[in-house]
Amino acid sequence: AIPLVVARSTYLSAQNGLFIRNRASFEDARKINTVVFDKTGTLTKGKFAVTDIIPSGNTTEKELLQKAASMESQSEHPIAAGIVASAKQQNINLITPEEFDSITGAGVKAKLENARLLAVSPGYMNKNDIPYDQDTFNKLSNAGKTVIFILEEEQFIGMIALADQIKDSSKEAVRRLHELGIEAQMLTGDNQTVANNVAKEIGIDNVIAEVLPDQKADQIKQLQADKKRTAMTGDGINDSPALATADLGVAVGAGTDVAMETADIVLVNSNPVDVVSIIELSRLTYRKMI
Ligand code: ADP
Ligand code: MG
Repeated sequence: AIPLVVARSTYLSAQNGLFIRNRASFEDARKINTVVFDKTGTLTKGKFAVTDIIPSGNTTEKELLQKAASMESQSEHPIAAGIVASAKQQNINLITPEEFDSITGAGVKAKLENARLLAVSPGYMNKNDIPYDQDTFNKLSNAGKTVIFILEEEQFIGMIALADQIKDSSKEAVRRLHELGIEAQMLTGDNQTVANNVAKEIGIDNVIAEVLPDQKADQIKQLQADKKRTAMTGDGINDSPALATADLGVAVGAGTDVAMETADIVLVNSNPVDVVSIIELSRLTYRKMI
């Protein structure tokens, strides 16, 4: 039988949009001393808006946006949605790519009117030694913007910067974790400079950036090896292995089905403060029983 106090907590949490899928993990939540958050869609709203379009060489602003948006119309990443929305706003018509593929953790590639195009991360540019305007890039990423590079036939033809918005509740979540003596970390595929900026504004203690999707779970294992009882909070398919590995896997409810099926707890309201509530509720519930 389920002790009454546990049944009551489960009921109360469900009423507040905290859906407990694994009761053993909920019980152990009181021992968590480190909470790791995915950035995009978890600490931020995951709604990107284009802020800067910077073509290079003979390319015009319109051409750059048209090429980028035509590729991104095939992608489901929140960055893609921002670029496509910007093109629509400017009444730019999109071209259907002849070929399309995503490059895991780095961007997308497409064949467009017989030209080979890429929209990729700074990490991809550096890894492949492709030259670009470093000063402009630094300025944009120091302002916390995510920068995407567009290549045509392996030549850099421009960059597009996008800004996401930090959720107000992210700062409160970190503040309350600190009050409980719990450390807050960020785990993201985004660029280190951008991640540091967002983390600083929220009050995050440690940033692990430029992590490929299949490395997120390894990063959690690393923390556990350092004796950290770790909760992972995320929304994406790429967060699922990390959610499964963590001592407590928390899926943000507006995220993907895969993440929700893997998680121990689902936050229906997508509010990072609810992670704190889970830990507090676990502490209260299981203290009463002893
Ligand atoms: P995250 O969910 O933390 O942003 P991802 O692994 O999805 O991590 O993406 C890592 C990086 O790869 C992004 O920050 C971006 O630079 C690049 N990227 C991913 N998808 C796209 C896309 N559709 N278009 C352009 N760049 C992308
Ligand atoms: Mg995400």
